[in-house]
Amino acid sequence: MVRSKNKKFLLTLVLLTPFIFGGYIPNETMMPAFRMKKIVLDAGHGGKDPGNLGSRSKEKDINLAVTLLVGKYIKENMPDVEVVYTRKDDSFPSLKERPQIANNNKADLFVSIHSNSAPNKSAFGTETFVMGTKHFEANFDIVKRENSVILLEDNYEENYEGFDPSSPESYMMFNLMSKVHFENSVSLADQIETQFRDRVGRKSRGVKQGPFYVLWTPSMPSVLVELGFLSNSEEERFLMSEAGKEYMASAIYRSIRDYKEAIESK
Ligand SMILES: [Zn+2]
Repeated sequence: MVRSKNKKFLLTLVLLTPFIFGGYIPNETMMPAFRMKKIVLDAGHGGKDPGNLGSRSKEKDINLAVTLLVGKYIKENMPDVEVVYTRKDDSFPSLKERPQIANNNKADLFVSIHSNSAPNKSAFGTETFVMGTKHFEANFDIVKRENSVILLEDNYEENYEGFDPSSPESYMMFNLMSKVHFENSVSLADQIETQFRDRVGRKSRGVKQGPFYVLWTPSMPSVLVELGFLSNSEEERFLMSEAGKEYMASAIYRSIRDYKEAIESK
């Protein structure tokens, strides 16, 4: 039971609440709307680092071709978005430089594009990674493989401050990204895998987490796409074909377009 004096106080409080807090509740129409203006596309590997080797293809070439197509589709269809590449040719930007390019450009999104490989030649399908350590042990092989690129770099001991890609303990130093960036990364990764599965008819192995070096340092939502397994002859043939590259690139483009629309209407 509330006594009448308290009742009056409570009533006053309820009536005044909108005035007391009114000034502190941000008015939606007054908040500057978020616009996705810049995206960094990162073709994995390059130059002296071929990445995974198929029987007739190199990962670095497939990554670059698909990445350039994604950029082309974005430029053609989203003229308000600027595309920055970490490489546009067969060069070798270090693993450290790639996210730095995204940070220095104050990009709104970082997308790294790779192709997979496995000792089991029958393994196939796509997967998209976000920064994280869930199921780390299950994904350690691929994380180790992608991060081991730094061993090809000069002065890697100095540049990576003792980080050893093959030692699980080294990964203790990875920080998790902010919750908002994580959620946005997962939402883009979901869109990419859905597009691969529903529109290109690929087998989606899902959205996964891994402490990839290139996903660790960007201060914006970021994903790492694995287009398929070059160790699987059928999937290698698909990814080597012009049509295959165009299908995969347009799927990534559509995901980015839908992600942009969703995030800007929030
Ligand atoms: Zn790779």
